[in-house]
Amino acid sequence: SQASHPSPLKFGKVEAMETQEGFSTNPTLDFHGIDQKLVDKMAYDALVWSSLHGLVIGDKSVQRSGKVPGVGMVHTPFALLPMPFPESHFKQACEDIRLGLHRSDYMLDEQTKFLLQIEMNTISSSFAGLTCLVSELHRNLLDSYRELLQLDSKRIPGNTSVSQFADALAKAWTEYNNPRSVVMVVVQAEEHNISIRKTLAEIDVEGELQADGTLTVDGQAIAVVYFRAGYTPSDYPSESEWSARLLMEQSSAVKCPSISYHLAGTKKIQQELAKPNVLERFLDNKEDIAKLRKCFAGLWSLDDSDIVKKAIERPELFVMKPQREGGGNNIYGNNVRETLTKLQKEDTEEDAAYILMQRIFPTVSSTFLLRDGICHKDDAVSELGVYGAYLRNKEKVIINEQCGYLMRTKKSSSDEGGVAAGFAVLDSLYLT
Ligand code: ADP
Ligand code: MG
Ligand code: MG
Repeated sequence: SQASHPSPLKFGKVEAMETQEGFSTNPTLDFHGIDQKLVDKMAYDALVWSSLHGLVIGDKSVQRSGKVPGVGMVHTPFALLPMPFPESHFKQACEDIRLGLHRSDYMLDEQTKFLLQIEMNTISSSFAGLTCLVSELHRNLLDSYRELLQLDSKRIPGNTSVSQFADALAKAWTEYNNPRSVVMVVVQAEEHNISIRKTLAEIDVEGELQADGTLTVDGQAIAVVYFRAGYTPSDYPSESEWSARLLMEQSSAVKCPSISYHLAGTKKIQQELAKPNVLERFLDNKEDIAKLRKCFAGLWSLDDSDIVKKAIERPELFVMKPQREGGGNNIYGNNVRETLTKLQKEDTEEDAAYILMQRIFPTVSSTFLLRDGICHKDDAVSELGVYGAYLRNKEKVIINEQCGYLMRTKKSSSDEGGVAAGFAVLDSLYLT
C-alpha cells in the first residue's frame, strides 16, 4: 500500500512535529510543499464533505437561490487546511472582556508579533453557523490523511459557536417569558443564509405594537429580534425600513442588537475607546484595561491634523474607514491620500464620517483556497474572530461567555477581508 500513496510531503514536518518548542519557534508549516496529487485528492474529499455536512450557502449565480431555501447551493469558500497560528495569541484573543452576540476580529502583526484588534462587530456577526463545520472538516481531513500530512487534528481548537449562539437566543426567548412568542430573524430581501425570516419592509407592513409593548408580526408575538440585516445603507431603501426599525426598538422584544448596542460597534466608538483615559471610564480593573489596550492598533479621528498630514505622506501605513459594515468599504493606499486631500479642500463635516487606523501587516502563509470547486494555491493572510455572547435581564447577567472562533483567510495581495463580499474564505486554525 505504501507504493500507492502519493509521495509523502516535504514541508518540514520533522521540525514542526518533533518538539512543541521546535514547532513554536519555527512555525513554517509550508503547505505549498505538499504533493499536488495529494492536494487534489484532499480538495475533492473536502468538497464532498462540505456538500454532505451542509457547509454550503445559496449560490448567487443561481437566481432563485436568494428566495427559495434549498435551491442552488454551493460550498462556502474555505481553506483546504487549517492556518498555523501561535497558541499563545489564540489564548490572548479568547480572553477579552465581553458584551450581545458579537465577534471581535484580530490580525497578528508580523513585525511586532502583537495581536491587534481589527474591529468589534455587534450586529450580524457572521458565520457562527458555518465556522464550526470548517473546523470539523479540517479535523476530518487531518485524521484521514494523518500518515501523509503528519498533522495532529487535536491542535485545531474546539468550536461550538453555533450551539452557543443558539443557546443564547433560546435563553433570551426564555427570559421574555411568553411561551407563544417566537424568535424572528430580520433578513435582506435576497438572503443567502437560511433561517426563519422577515424583511424590514415586511415588518413595516405586518408589524404592530400592542399597548403592553409586545411586538406582533402577522399576529405572532415576537420575543427576540435577531438582525441578520439592517447594518448597511442599502438595507434601508425607503422610510418603511426605518419605521420597521423604530417599531421594533419601541417594543419590549429583546433586540439583538438594540440600537445603542448597534452604535457601540461602530468604528468611531472603537477609535474613541482607544483615546487616553477613556477605557478608565468604563473599567475599574487596571489589569483588564492594560490587556484591552494591548490589542488596540493606532486609531485616530480625522480632526487630528498631524495624523492626517502623515497619512497623506505615507498612505500605505494607514487604512481609512467609514462607519460601515459588511466589508468592501475601506480605503487603502493612494486612495487614502486622494480622499484626505479632497476632504481638506472641501472643509465640510464629512471628515467626521471616517476614522484612520494603523495598517496591520500580518504574517504571510502558504495555503490552498477553495472557491466554486476550484483549488487555488496562494500566499495568504488571516484574521481571527472570537465570538462572544452576553445576555442580561435587568441586573442579572445570564450569559457572558466566549463562543468559539472564526478564521478568515485571504490572498495576501487583497486589501479587504469579507467572505460574502468575495475576498476571503473560511478557515480554522492549527495551534503552533
Ligand atoms: P467591516 O466592518 O466592513 O468588516 P473591517 O474593519 O473589519 O470592516 O475591515 C474590513 C477588512 O479590511 C478586514 O477584514 C481586514 O481584512 C481589512 N482591514 C481592516 N482594518 C485593517 C488594518 N488596520 N490593517 C490591515 N487590514 C485591515
Ligand atoms: Mg464589521
Ligand atoms: Mg470586519
